[in-house]
Amino acid sequence: MKLDVDVLRYLSKEDFRVLTAVEMGMRNHEIVPSDLIDRIASLKHGGTYKVLKNLLKHKLLHHDSSKYDGFRLTYLGYDFLAIKTMVNRGVFTAVGRQIGVGKESDIFEVAREDGTVMAMKLHRLGRTSFRAVKSKRDYLRHRSSYNWLYLSRLAALKEFAFMKALEEHGFPVPNAVDCNRHCVVMSLIQGYPLVQVKQLQNPETVFETILGLIVRLAEHGLIHCDFNEFNIMIDDDEKVTMIDFPQMVSVSHRNAQMYFDRDIECIFKFFGKRFNLSFEECSDDIDDSEVDTDESGRPSFSSITKTTGFLDKELAASGFTRKDQDDIQKFIEGDVVEDDVSDEEHEPELCRANIKSFNSLHLDQEEPTSSCNEEGQVDQNHHTPEAGQGGDSESQNSSNEEEDNQNADENDAELMKSLAKQRRRAMAAARKGRKNIASRNSYKDKGGKSSNNSKIQKQLSSW
Ligand code: ADP
Ligand code: MG
Repeated sequence: MKLDVDVLRYLSKEDFRVLTAVEMGMRNHEIVPSDLIDRIASLKHGGTYKVLKNLLKHKLLHHDSSKYDGFRLTYLGYDFLAIKTMVNRGVFTAVGRQIGVGKESDIFEVAREDGTVMAMKLHRLGRTSFRAVKSKRDYLRHRSSYNWLYLSRLAALKEFAFMKALEEHGFPVPNAVDCNRHCVVMSLIQGYPLVQVKQLQNPETVFETILGLIVRLAEHGLIHCDFNEFNIMIDDDEKVTMIDFPQMVSVSHRNAQMYFDRDIECIFKFFGKRFNLSFEECSDDIDDSEVDTDESGRPSFSSITKTTGFLDKELAASGFTRKDQDDIQKFIEGDVVEDDVSDEEHEPELCRANIKSFNSLHLDQEEPTSSCNEEGQVDQNHHTPEAGQGGDSESQNSSNEEEDNQNADENDAELMKSLAKQRRRAMAAARKGRKNIASRNSYKDKGGKSSNNSKIQKQLSSW
């Protein structure tokens, strides 16, 4: 997919306000009703509709009128929200070319003002399995937060948290720079995925290093679960870096042994085929570990002294909670596990930074306006599939909301706060199924006086 960041420069504050309003609406709606977007964004004089048209033109939104008139974010729309936040935070100032297409991600070069080049991974959970997500809709109906937005955000947060924790424990991983929504920024690895490497000076040493990493991970209580030639980078000095962590599990997982053996098997297979290694000579001394091996030289999972929960503190420090872990695990395990083949098909040779090919993003850094206009009212009559469902989805959504708010960039905090308020009020009203109160004036006109309504009115007039 083309990421034309040029468009970003021409988007106004109103454009981002409406885009953010759609994002918020998507916590409860697969397709966000147009009038709900209007209520949340609360632009003056029906301005929302003009903005929606503009966002649609740039393919940041998708229009759907099959059940009711509504919109959802496209990947591009979500990308723009994350990229804008990163630029506002000063993480990078330009987006360059695409350097990788994973099964469920796109990776781009990004650059700081001083020319430092980094890698930006945009998670696309559900891209290959979007249909699977849709077909599970019955199951998901009561968990409306399980959409690709939520899942991609969780994948990014998990990747960021694991990368940071692993780095702190001396594992060779990229440096985790920042994370927002479905986007992770990390250091750029100056190397190639092992799958592209046809020859090595010291294949035995590389092989032993890699096996040693799998064992050491297990000693730290973790299994990579996708440890193969696509997720191991190697540089000209044959130094190994591991990448791609959203699917990692704990050694206490019920299938831990199977995942561990599968990672080991991938490496044995690849080195045997690509570098004709005979394994008897290798693996007696796996990276100083005192782990037993079977007769074929494969490390035995049961002989590893494992420290479960070792990284828990670090993971929690990055904001990745137990519940996040459970949520994403459910999705991964309910999904078809496919081999990562897309990298080989699409990945061009990793070039060094070419600053000329970067698109500089000199964005309007001005604070988005936090004040809502007087007409910023509450629609209380949205009978959409999810609205009005209580229980599970409700508590889930409110906790997601808190997390989202935590993750919100400080620069956008005011905007997020005011939009969240609008959205919460609209949703609460929809749940209670009260009569439609289209505007403050119409409320007045009707002379209604419920205490709830007057509370809302008080809040509205204080904006
Ligand atoms: P996926 O989860 O979609 O498989 P990966 O994290 O494995 O995504 O990344 C896909 C490809 O992008 C990798 O095979 C690699 O070529 C490239 N890539 C990812 N991260 C980096 C990085 N930090 N530096 C350089 N290249 C990277
Ligand atoms: Mg990968």
